Amino acid sequence: MCHPTLRTAKSFPGTPKKNEPVPAIVSTHINAAWINDSAVGRLFAALGHPGVDVRFVGGCVRDALLSRPIGDIDIATPDIPTTVMQRLDNTKIKAVPTGLAHGTVTAVVDGRGFEITTLRRDTACDGRHAAVEFTTDWHEDARRRDFTINAMSLTLAGELFDDFGGQADAKAGRIQFVGAARDRIKEDYLRVLRLFRFHAHYGRVPIDAETLKACAELKDGLTQLSAERVRQELAKLLTASDPLASVAMMRECGVLKAVLPEAGAPECLAQVIVIEKSLALPPNWIVRLAALSGPKANAHDIGTRLRLSNRESGELVALLADHPDLTAAMPDSQIDLVLYRSGKEPILNRAILKAAGSGVWAAWEDVLRRALNWVHLPMPIDGDDLLKLGLAGPSIGRALRAAEEAWAASAFRASRAELLEVAKP
Ligand code: ATP
Ligand code: MG
Repeated sequence: MCHPTLRTAKSFPGTPKKNEPVPAIVSTHINAAWINDSAVGRLFAALGHPGVDVRFVGGCVRDALLSRPIGDIDIATPDIPTTVMQRLDNTKIKAVPTGLAHGTVTAVVDGRGFEITTLRRDTACDGRHAAVEFTTDWHEDARRRDFTINAMSLTLAGELFDDFGGQADAKAGRIQFVGAARDRIKEDYLRVLRLFRFHAHYGRVPIDAETLKACAELKDGLTQLSAERVRQELAKLLTASDPLASVAMMRECGVLKAVLPEAGAPECLAQVIVIEKSLALPPNWIVRLAALSGPKANAHDIGTRLRLSNRESGELVALLADHPDLTAAMPDSQIDLVLYRSGKEPILNRAILKAAGSGVWAAWEDVLRRALNWVHLPMPIDGDDLLKLGLAGPSIGRALRAAEEAWAASAFRASRAELLEVAKP
């Protein structure tokens, strides 16, 4: 593993504008195995001909600086896409022209995809889509990126280019736009949701008042976004380990209501987060969405409006439906019967939501633990056995239900003979 020393850029192309800080000279170490990966090495060897400055950009640089696991490795180059395709071809690397007009080529090395994008400058923006022009100026490319923490670039040798103070912001957990929030939002309203999403994952200090004011003033622009985008951002936001502070800010500036009019006070969401953590469960965004929407929300409406998948929508509908059969004070055999019939995930999630909504989730501890540790043991009799007993029609269903009750009541130890006895007409 290499530990290249990071140096900030020696040169600073373009004249810094107001509120574009000149980078401070900092040196640090990146302790990331992926930089030394052989596929990455092959790619840089293919693209980085002498005189061609190829760098890592965006999320991988940010996450490497914070010693977090990285998502995709995105690479930028001053070469135009046809040259990138040519260079990949020369070195027998598969190149897919995924978004040539926007400057993106996907290289496939050892079965992994890497996005390689030509440096760009936005020439016109309509609130979501930008017309772009290729450039060879790294500073221009950094300037069109959304947040300071997303606007850094890094060479293979470990030289960090940080024109907007992204490293300091990443370390402080400060999410700020590159440039003036108002202008950047008007170019692309998705950035409002990205702001809160990145805050949920990386924020450690509140978003500054001026930025929140801009979000409040421009929130109507969110109607321009496609439902898929809103869904995607909400899912990413709610999948953060603790998005509560971000959700509270979204609520204060009216952004939450703009994307989820059903949303009420986030107390129930706060409780869901506590319960998930205490049970060591990963965040479940649909359970969190249900908590945020509140028990009176129409789950069908939310599912349709946000274009949730059938599975997500089904889960939300089930979660927000009335479930009088699941209560905190249930005897163990009753909990087991419900678990046997409905399965672990639905009951666990339903119990989390009910417990969170009750405000006294300690009363639900028994249900939650039983659901968490649930192992399904199938009954030793089935419908065929009942047919052989001479049952037919609706009486089969009734007999099966009686057998299930006996099976749960016996703590899943009853014998086949005992269950057949219960099922007999
Ligand atoms: P993630 O881990 O969520 O993928 P990421 O930073 O890689 O985080 P992407 O959405 O994959 O985020 O975008 C890659 C980079 O492209 C960002 O880091 C940012 O520099 C830039 N970017 C993406 N979307 C926008 C946008 N709407 N406006 C400005 N820059 C953007
Ligand atoms: Mg990414």
